[in-house]
Amino acid sequence: MRGNNYLIINKLKDLGLEISFEERTDFIGFKVKPLVIVYPQGEDDVINIVRLAREFRISIVPWGAGTSLTGAVSCDGCILLDMRRMNKILEINTIDWYVRVQPGVVLDDLNKELSKYGFFFPPDPASHYMCTVGIIATDAGGMRALKYGTVKDWVLALRVVLPTGEVIKVGEPLKKNRTGYDLVHLFVGSEGTLGIITEAWLRIIPLPKRKVQTLIVYLDDMETLAKFVYEVRRRGIMPELMEYMDPYAINAVNQAFNSGLKVADGGLVIIMIEEDLIDELLNIRINGLNIVTINEEGARRIYELRSRAGEAIKAVYGSFYSEDITVPISRLAEAIIRLKELGDKYRKPMPILAHIGDGNMHPHILYKPGEEELAQRMYYEVARIAIELGGTISGEHGIGLQKRELLYEQYLVRNNIKTLEVMKNIKRLFDPNDIMNPNKYIY
Ligand SMILES: Cc1cc2nc3c(=O)[nH]c(=O)nc-3n(C[C@H](O)[C@H](O)[C@H](O)COP(=O)(O)OP(=O)(O)OC[C@H]3O[C@@H](n4cnc5c(N)ncnc54)[C@H](O)[C@@H]3O)c2cc1C
Repeated sequence: MRGNNYLIINKLKDLGLEISFEERTDFIGFKVKPLVIVYPQGEDDVINIVRLAREFRISIVPWGAGTSLTGAVSCDGCILLDMRRMNKILEINTIDWYVRVQPGVVLDDLNKELSKYGFFFPPDPASHYMCTVGIIATDAGGMRALKYGTVKDWVLALRVVLPTGEVIKVGEPLKKNRTGYDLVHLFVGSEGTLGIITEAWLRIIPLPKRKVQTLIVYLDDMETLAKFVYEVRRRGIMPELMEYMDPYAINAVNQAFNSGLKVADGGLVIIMIEEDLIDELLNIRINGLNIVTINEEGARRIYELRSRAGEAIKAVYGSFYSEDITVPISRLAEAIIRLKELGDKYRKPMPILAHIGDGNMHPHILYKPGEEELAQRMYYEVARIAIELGGTISGEHGIGLQKRELLYEQYLVRNNIKTLEVMKNIKRLFDPNDIMNPNKYIY
């Protein structure tokens, strides 16, 4: 260990901070090799750590639950800031409809507490049972994004410790607030590169009163998927959730959780929809569709299975890279055909989960040890399909380490490099010493 490193660790100890030394691996397998892991208990701890990092020019990487699917928490020799001790729900305001929280609260814990008051925080990434409110930093989407949008639609205000050690509050816990540049949404999705979120005011709403019914749509082939989605859109039907699992993903779920789901050749779509819209949905007549309604217990079960499908794919197929492409919905049919062609070209199964109602697809690129380069090539080819179809390389997971070059490529193809320069200038403005989650995202 270098002399400075001893000094940093001793200073952290002198500050009375809880620390540990270990290597970690994030959910998807990226290595995290910090110099030290620090567990701040509150904002003052974060300020002290940042000041120290600034003095010694050592990088800081915030860690929520490490469920990033892009290498966003990977690091080598950094101070890893494990935010999970900052997990207090500070205020639930049922008149102004917000909750004030620390960032380390697990999403499901937050919703469990809110439900006691008849409220909820709608964004539900499938990792809801693991991930933290740190999802503000990824602008996570999720299964109900179709109806409720992504995290950005639910953040009212933030306290942030800047890389200088100063603290700012951006936004107000108000439904309307038109004062100054929208810095709240600059921090949303900034992946820990601009500062550390220490407190958040999140919009909440009452739990839905209207009954929501769950249906499963079995598909004879994948081509029918796009036809079905187009028809739902054409008819102006607005489900709350519309999730797709292909046969490989269903097989994984069946094996991992002994769930006995029917494996239709084209996979299945889970739909949650307000009861009065069901008839319109059932009226859709397309060859190759079989729509089945399920009861409340079945609905809970299928939601859980879909949430844990990523875990199942990992358990059954091993290592994977998770794509996160989003295409204009009008081009879903082309995207599906091109993904199928790519799978055939590489002769590899490519389990697909998709927030299909948003045009957001997660093909999983499977690989064994030694196949990383091949997997990387496939990963790029999938992402390029999205770019070519007028879509985007990331709908919700973000950029992290894995999509840095692809981000550049997308902006280049769209003749928009100037925008990237503006982003780089923003990073320099906030973090002149480049200590906050460096070499990721915009670099
Ligand atoms: C099984 C599974 C299913 C998933 N499903 C979805 C899905 O449906 N939709 C979706 O959008 N995503 C999904 N994801 C990926 C998603 O990005 C993460 O689950 C979530 O956004 C990350 O939460 P986390 O608490 O684990 O944060 P981490 O992975 O620990 O961190 C993510 C990023 O946020 C930064 N960060 C964390 N806390 C802070 C903070 N306090 N201040 C500043 N920066 C911070 C980190 O530095 C990092 O850049 C899934 C992941 C898994 C494993």
